[in-house]
Amino acid sequence: MKSIVIVGGGVAGTITANYLAMRLKDEIRSGDVKVTLISDREKQLYEPGLLYLIFNRFEEEDILRDVKYLLDPQVELKIVRATRIDAESSKIDLEDGSKVEYDYLVIATGSRVVPEDVPGLVESGHWFYNLEGARRLREGLAKFRKGKILVSVMGIPHKCPVAPIEVTFLLHDFYKIHGVRKNVEILYTYPINKVFTMNNVSELVEEMFRERNIGYKTFFNPLEVDAERRVVVTLEGEEEPFDLLIAIPPHKGSQVIIDSGLGDRDGWVPTDRYTLKAEGYDNIYVVGDATNLPVSKAGSVAHFEAEVVAENIAAEVKGLPPTARYFGKAMCFIETGFDQATYIWFDYETPPKPVKPNKFIHWMKIAYNRMYWLTARGIL
Ligand SMILES: Cc1cc2nc3c(=O)[nH]c(=O)nc-3n(C[C@H](O)[C@H](O)[C@H](O)COP(=O)(O)OP(=O)(O)OC[C@H]3O[C@@H](n4cnc5c(N)ncnc54)[C@H](O)[C@@H]3O)c2cc1C
Repeated sequence: MKSIVIVGGGVAGTITANYLAMRLKDEIRSGDVKVTLISDREKQLYEPGLLYLIFNRFEEEDILRDVKYLLDPQVELKIVRATRIDAESSKIDLEDGSKVEYDYLVIATGSRVVPEDVPGLVESGHWFYNLEGARRLREGLAKFRKGKILVSVMGIPHKCPVAPIEVTFLLHDFYKIHGVRKNVEILYTYPINKVFTMNNVSELVEEMFRERNIGYKTFFNPLEVDAERRVVVTLEGEEEPFDLLIAIPPHKGSQVIIDSGLGDRDGWVPTDRYTLKAEGYDNIYVVGDATNLPVSKAGSVAHFEAEVVAENIAAEVKGLPPTARYFGKAMCFIETGFDQATYIWFDYETPPKPVKPNKFIHWMKIAYNRMYWLTARGIL
């Protein structure tokens, strides 16, 4: 019997598992193949929903589902943390003391924020990139009525490259609706020489920021937050004061990747950009945020990659050559307010061309938010 093990119960892990269950249903039924998913959490979080939760437009129950509910019943689910992956012996140590062996491994362990890497940030800043941070920021935004909000991207790469831009536009609309926009200064900062990594998007966003009286600073690399003086201190020697700091903290890969020696310094797994195999390992694939690929850390990317990984593993199991390839396909909606959005798609060869923001695209995004759980189950 062939054992396929997926580590990580986020969007990348569950979709890969469900595609594998579909493609290998006969082999699973006959007992020739077993698909196991290891997740350290019972529930999956629909992270794009955090953007709405902080403005009180989504409840927690909208953005959390049991991983078990999302998985094809043919997939065995183990709720336990993987503590070490031994790629030489193809064995995984689990926190409960047991071990799992695999013939094929899919690493889908995602990314996490590490606000503690910026001194002073935990004490004096907010973030919305995980549930705990988003809950706290929701309270902070509801109380905030006057002063300066600093939205600061504190490291690249991070999940959903467009989310910091989206939150900035939504802050503008939020305080406008509340009638206090004139009392609230909004400043957005980004580490490189433009407000976003891609030129077309950057140009559009800069223009829209100016129209809305949203300030922005580039080449802004925070080193620390002085909690007492309420200023962000940068590598470039600047000090930027704030009344409310919304940080996009630095990100890292999962601790198990670092502890197993499978990643680079920050825990991203070196991955072949086309086959999605972990470099140097023929039976390990990587999917979603866990890779070191030069693509967005985004749910849509995880989705497109999962199709390739599942198709290739299914082919290998059936004794066929694994010929599916990933070409860097990504698709992102960009909310530019509470009633308008644009979207971009791109791949390794094709840069994005954002269209003029409009209501229709916004409503498509809202519809997608509601349909997400069907895509996670592999139904759409
Ligand atoms: C605010 C916000 C808005 C976003 N908006 C969008 C958007 O509009 N569109 C879009 O496409 N993307 C968006 N994203 C990005 C998207 O949510 C992520 O790219 C996506 O969730 C990545 O999926 P993943 O499965 O690779 O990783 P994750 O979602 O991080 O899942 C990894 C899972 O693996 C588990 N895990 C880690 N280590 C272990 C271990 N040792 N043992 C067992 N389990 C382990 C983790 O607990 C987690 O459940 C957004 C993200 C944020 C934060």
